[in-house]
Order: sequence, then C-alpha cells, then structure tokens
Amino acid sequence: MTDTSADLVILGGGSGGYACAFRAAELGLSVVLIEKDKLGGTCLHRGCIPTKALLHAAEVADSARDGDQFGVKSSLEGIDMAGVNSYKDGIIGGLYKGLQGLAKANKVTLVEGAGTFVGPNTVEVNGDRYIGKNVVLATGSFARSLPGLEIGGRIITSDQALNLDYVPDRVVVLGGGVIGVEFASVWRSFGADVTIVEALPRLVPLEDEWASKQLERAFRKRGIKFKTGVRFTGAVQSEANVTVSLESGESLEADLLLVAVGRGPNSAGHGYEEAGVTMERGFVITDERLRTNLPNVYAVGDLVPGLQLAHRGFQQGIFVAEDIAGQNPKVIDESGIPKVTYCNPEVASVGLTEAAAKEKYGSAETYVYSLAGNGKSQILKTSGGVKLVKAPDGPVVGITLVGERVGELIGEAQLIYNWEAFPEDVAPLIHAHPTQTEALGEAFLALAGKPLHVHG
Ligand SMILES: Cc1cc2nc3c(=O)[nH]c(=O)nc-3n(C[C@H](O)[C@H](O)[C@H](O)COP(=O)(O)OP(=O)(O)OC[C@H]3O[C@@H](n4cnc5c(N)ncnc54)[C@H](O)[C@@H]3O)c2cc1C
Repeated sequence: MTDTSADLVILGGGSGGYACAFRAAELGLSVVLIEKDKLGGTCLHRGCIPTKALLHAAEVADSARDGDQFGVKSSLEGIDMAGVNSYKDGIIGGLYKGLQGLAKANKVTLVEGAGTFVGPNTVEVNGDRYIGKNVVLATGSFARSLPGLEIGGRIITSDQALNLDYVPDRVVVLGGGVIGVEFASVWRSFGADVTIVEALPRLVPLEDEWASKQLERAFRKRGIKFKTGVRFTGAVQSEANVTVSLESGESLEADLLLVAVGRGPNSAGHGYEEAGVTMERGFVITDERLRTNLPNVYAVGDLVPGLQLAHRGFQQGIFVAEDIAGQNPKVIDESGIPKVTYCNPEVASVGLTEAAAKEKYGSAETYVYSLAGNGKSQILKTSGGVKLVKAPDGPVVGITLVGERVGELIGEAQLIYNWEAFPEDVAPLIHAHPTQTEALGEAFLALAGKPLHVHG
C-alpha cells in the first residue's frame, strides 16, 4: 500500500474528469487522474464520437443512394459493417492516442483501476491511497433501462448498438430523445425498417415543438416510423426476434430493440454515499460552483443533474480547475449550453423554447425562416428552418435550427444567445453567400424589421 498526495485527485477520466485534469495541470497543480477503463470515457469510446462516425457513414450511404437527384450515376450496393466499424474505430483510436499524449504532456499522473472515494479527501485504488487537497468526482453515467426490461440478447442499449457487426432488418427504438433518433437515422440510412416508440407526445421532446414537427415530417419522408404518446409495456425475445408490446394493445416485431430511455448517474458502489456525499436520485448534488456538501470535494459532468453533454462536462471540469487554482471563474450559465442532435436532418438549439420563454416572460416574439429561401440548403436539397425566440423588448433568448448540417451553425447561434444580442445587433453582420449561415442572418434581418429573401 502506498500513499500519493496531489493538489487534485480526480475520479473518472471522461470529458469532465480529463478536462479538469488538463486545465489544472496547465495552472501548475499536481494532478492524479483515476480511470478504470479508458481515458476519454463515454464520449470518446461509447458516445459522441462513435455515433457521429456512424452518422457520417449513413450520410455517405444516402449520398450513394440518392446520386441521381444530382445527376450523378451511383447506387448503394450495401453496407459493410466491418468496414464501417473499422472506420469508426480508427477515429476513436486516433483521438484516444492524442488524449493519452496530452495527459503525458501535461504531466498528469494516470492511475488505472476502479477507485473508491473513502473520504474526506482520499480515493483508494487497488489498496493504494491517493490523497488530494481537492477531490473531483467525475464518474459519469450509464444507459438506463425500464423496470423489468433486462438488457441482453436482442434487447440492447447504445453500448451494444455501436458495435453491431450487421445491419438489422427491423429495429424498434424505445425512446425518441437524442440517442434514439440518432440511431434510428443511422439504421434507416443503412436500409433497416425502423420504428421509434416514445411515451411523450413528440420526438425530441426537450426541443421547441416546432423542431419536433419539422423532424417528424422529415422522418416520415425518410420512411422512419414513430409512435408517440404511447407507453411501452413489455418485450419478449426469442431466438428469431423480439416482440415489443405497447399500451395501445399493439405489438411490434423486430430483430432488435434499442433501449434509449436516458442515462442514469454512475454513482453507486464508489463510496459516495458512505462518505456522506449528498445525492438525489443517484445524482451528486452541487452548488453553482460545483462544490458538493463535503469540503474540497467537487463533482462534474453527467453525475451532476443537468444536460448530459460532453461540452458541459468539459466546461465544468475547466471551471473546477480554475476555481481550485484561485482564479475565481464566472459561474457557468447552463441555459447557454448549445445542443445538437445529429440525425438527418439535424436539430440544434440554444436558449429557451417558445413555450419556456412565454412561461418566463409572459409572452415572446418569434420568427421562423424557412430553409426554402436559403440557396445553399436548396443546393443540398434539405428543408427545415431557423426559429428565433425574443423576449418582449429584450434580446433573443432562444434559437432553434432544423436541417441537414445545421449543427455547424450553432457556434454563431450560441454567441448571439450568450451575448444577449438584439436582432438589430446581429442584422448588420454579413454572412457569406451561399452558406447556410445566411439563414440565420436572414432570420435576424426579418426580426429587425428588414427582411430580404422572404416571401409573404
Ligand atoms: C450514444 C451516446 C451519444 C452521445 N453523443 C453526444 C454528443 O454527440 N455530444 C455530446 O455533447 N454528448 C454526447 N453524449 C453524452 C456524453 O458522452 C456525456 O455527456 C459525457 O461523456 C459525460 O462525461 P463525464 O466525464 O461526465 O462521464 P463519462 O464520459 O461517462 O466518464 C466517466 C468515466 O469515469 C470512469 N469511472 C467510473 N467509475 C469509476 C471508478 N470507480 N473508478 C475509476 N473510473 C471510473 C468511467 O470508466 C468513465 O471513463 C453521448 C452519449 C451517448 C451514450
């Protein structure tokens, strides 16, 4: 048994944990980063990166299939999942190597193994003790299931879905949130028959209702089936298939059932409860400076209630490192965190939905600019639009975009939101022609009372 002391001991090397480690090291603090699996965590190995690689392969498949729409003679011969997986794993491998290099360059001490927080400032790994002046809990999240629905065989979560060596003929996706619609999109592009089942009344229910409608219309066109406002009641699997029953009395047969009903905090079995860390429904509770109830113990990432997104984890990790280093960083405004759902078409948003703005301000002004008026979107043959939500006599408080590739526009949208810009501030900014960013520009011109490419 050895004892190692550091300024910072971090439990979990995912987006939140490693960002905290790197920033703290940059600021001259000594850092121990404990990871039981692979540096990079969910996002790199089982989340953002592999799903987006699959989605890109799906886009290539669609382009091959739809070449004739552009006068290009092409056809989709089929999907070679070994090839797709090797492309995906190559990206992960490259980024993983890069991350290991960064840990080394930053002189972060990486400890491999499962750590247990034994409090008040100590984490134990395989009998060795790591004592931090500060401890950061960053153990992330796991794919949830529903009571009585056991994962195994033909019933899978995103963890298994990312490594399939075949394209299923028929899939039922349980959950119409981000992860569900992304996989539905991939499998449809790969040729599968896909049905999404969502208990809430609409797909991507956290987004503005307008975005759900746009997405549902596009999915209908793509032949992605969905049943909203209906509850799942059970699933039975056999050698040949899985039968999914719904509250409506209907049953659906498929090769696979993807359970995409959200992610739970990975907080059990790491000593948190025993050490007296305040938790609710398994999430570690912090104040706005990410401090838990225990002195010098922080928590970041999916473990903390809020949006479960990698860039939130990065920002929280950086915040905690800077706070510990005495830099007194500004509290993170969670409402300014951009969100992108990378299905085809994409949905991207920042700030409030129309409904949330109306609740907050009593009323809200809105404007929708259709991508039908945007040259680049017409070239891409994508439809969708930009929706702006403005506070009464105030700045723009919500921006939502739907359409192919609009995820890339969220950078500008989040600057506008976070700078609390008025339409009059944004309208004079020039957008390159022909780009999809012009759709944002046009929406702001219109909201500032001087529409250009707008009919009616
Ligand atoms: C399918 C899917 C797609 C996603 N796509 C996106 C996306 O496109 N964009 C986006 O922003 N977010 C996306 N996410 C969410 C994103 O992956 C998470 O928000 C992010 O990974 C959270 O980071 P974290 O550091 O909190 O946790 P994690 O990344 O889960 O990292 C926690 C780490 O802690 C380690 N650990 C756990 N317990 C211990 C222990 N006792 N000892 C040592 N180590 C331990 C784990 O092995 C893990 O590496 C996606 C998630 C999924 C599942």
